Formats: sequence, structure tokens, C-alpha cells
Amino acid sequence: MSVLSGVAHDRGGSGMTSQRARDRLVARLREEGIKDPRVLDVIRTTPRHLFIDEALAPRAYEDVALPIGLGQTISQPWVVARMTELLIERGIPKRVLEIGTGSGYQAAVLSALVETVYTVERLDELLRQARRRFRNMKLENIRTRHDDGNIGWPGEAPFDAIVLTAAGESVPRKLLDQLSPQGVLVAPLGPSGKQKLTRLRREGDAFASDELADVSFVPLLGGVA
Ligand code: SAH
Repeated sequence: MSVLSGVAHDRGGSGMTSQRARDRLVARLREEGIKDPRVLDVIRTTPRHLFIDEALAPRAYEDVALPIGLGQTISQPWVVARMTELLIERGIPKRVLEIGTGSGYQAAVLSALVETVYTVERLDELLRQARRRFRNMKLENIRTRHDDGNIGWPGEAPFDAIVLTAAGESVPRKLLDQLSPQGVLVAPLGPSGKQKLTRLRREGDAFASDELADVSFVPLLGGVA
């Protein structure tokens, strides 16, 4: 099949949203240093094209961030894969808190690996769309909340792992408090243009921090809308 006919006849899973496109993405992620086979498998089986507008579906399996409306983006697959690796490298966490549901893609990837994903989004409109996707895909271990993620999800804490998918200058204190004693937190930190993907490991009351990669995320804001 030529590339052109692949695009022209793309209907729900053929052509540019096909398994072949996903396999190519996984091969690229492997070249770019993603090693964990559990993560590569989930990326291979998660239909990223269902988390974006239909008009962008032909680009779903490119390793790029894409717009999802309201000035927000679905994260780049490499970033989703790397953050997921970091969250599970010391053992599969049971309860994971995500700040910034956005399209729901990162939450869907995590839901295939952990017991329960708790995800908080400040923009009601995006959260409604994400919830619909979770329902349609029968992802029943994802719990959602419309709130300012800076306060975490106090009623469900502690969490074995926390991931922020929006960038702040530092990790909000309340999120650190909601991390279990041996927990791991992954977040983009720093000013726009100079963000570092950062991993914090909690050892009781102490936190060890590592900066792992240059990244570019939308900002962590306050309040809800
Ligand atoms: N994980 C998402 C990435 C979305 S972009 C995905 O896979 O598609 C980051 C998201 O964080 C945006 O939807 C933005 O609205 C949200 N966000 C920013 N600040 C927030 C806050 N304080 N609390 C909750 N969500 C926030």
C-alpha cells in the first residue's frame, strides 16, 4: 500500500493510525533510550490517535507533542515513556497520582501498569473529554478529579508515585506530603525554556533529587476553570 492510499483510506486503525505506525514509534523510542519492555509494550498498544482531534490523527504516532485545545498539549511520546519508566523502575506502584490529566493519554498508559491512577485536571472541558475516552476504552482503574492539582488529592493520599505533567518552579509542598515514605515523584521543573525532568525519591523525611533530561511542558497554573 502506498503512503498516500494509507492516508486516504484511513478508517479507525488502518493507515497512519495502524499498528505499523505504532511499531515505528516504539522502534524510535527504543533508539532514543527507552529500555523498559513493559513501557514499550504499553506504548505499542495504546491508541494515541483517540486522545487527539481527528484532524491530527495522522500525526498521532510521531514523537511530538500536539495541541489538544485551550492552549494545552498531549505530551510527546518519549516524555510519557520516560516518565513512566521512572515511576516504575523501583517496582510497580499501586496508587499513582497524576497532576494534569489533559488528553488522558499519560493516565491511560499508566493505567495499564498500575493498580489505580488518580488524575487531577484544572480545566473542566478537558477533563470531560478525557473521562469520555476512559469510559469508551473501558479504563476502569482511573479516577478523575476537577481541582487545582497544587493541593493534590488529600482524601486519597498517600500515593506510591506522583507525576506532574505541567511545569512549576518547584514541587508544591502538599504533593511532597502526599507521597508515601518510599515513594517517587517525577516532574518537569524550572522556568519555560529551561525545564528539567526531575525525579525525587522519598526516604522517610528526606528527598533525593536527580535532573534527568531537558523537557518542555505547559506551565502548572493555579485555580480551576
Ligand atoms: N498528561 C497530559 C498532558 C497534558 S498538558 C496528557 O497526557 O495529555 C498539562 C495539563 O496540566 C493541562 O491540561 C493543564 O490544564 C493541566 N494543569 C496545569 N496546571 C494544573 C493544576 N494546577 N492542576 C491540575 N491540572 C493542571
